[in-house]
Amino acid sequence: MAAARFGVESREGNMRLALAEAEKALAVQEVPIGCVIVRNCDGHVVARGRNNTVATGDATRHAEFEAIDAALAHADTGAIASDLFDACTLYVTCEPCVMCAAALRYAGFRHVCFGCRNDKFGGCGSALSVHQAPTGGTSFQVEEGVFAEEAIALLRRFYANENVNAPQARKRQRNAPAAAGSESVDAEVEASDVRACVSGGGSESQSAEG
Ligand SMILES: [Zn+2]
Repeated sequence: MAAARFGVESREGNMRLALAEAEKALAVQEVPIGCVIVRNCDGHVVARGRNNTVATGDATRHAEFEAIDAALAHADTGAIASDLFDACTLYVTCEPCVMCAAALRYAGFRHVCFGCRNDKFGGCGSALSVHQAPTGGTSFQVEEGVFAEEAIALLRRFYANENVNAPQARKRQRNAPAAAGSESVDAEVEASDVRACVSGGGSESQSAEG
């Protein structure tokens, strides 16, 4: 049943689906990171997600969380998340951040495939190795570098367009109340997270430029 788990064809096809989600995020001026959750036994796409932090004003709404919630919303009543995700692979265009990597452990994922690295906040080997840490939840395997250049190209487009949601522009479009300080901070964190991928030093360029 697990034969196609990390097969090249399914891996690339699934990452293209994740890139398509990232494109949708870019179209609505969200940080362009996309994600799909795929069932290993038959390649069924269980759920898709893309960054949604700006529209929701919720800095935790990264692509992985969006996809996890979508998967659970359509799961059979009474389904246990770990049973569901243990049998799936999560594909995401950029390395899961520390927050998402921890969430993926508790959700029960065993396999994660990502595109470009996130050198500043990545939780799967860059900043920290949450995926293999002796902490709660399950450890998971990672495979990286699948369409990394494409993932970085999308992020570059986001910043090249001087997007209103990029960190240079502090003002928010939403009618956020004064208490939105945390939102701004988190938005900047996420943005700098992306910049680390896009414009970092030589080691980052290695993974980014291939
Ligand atoms: Zn994240």
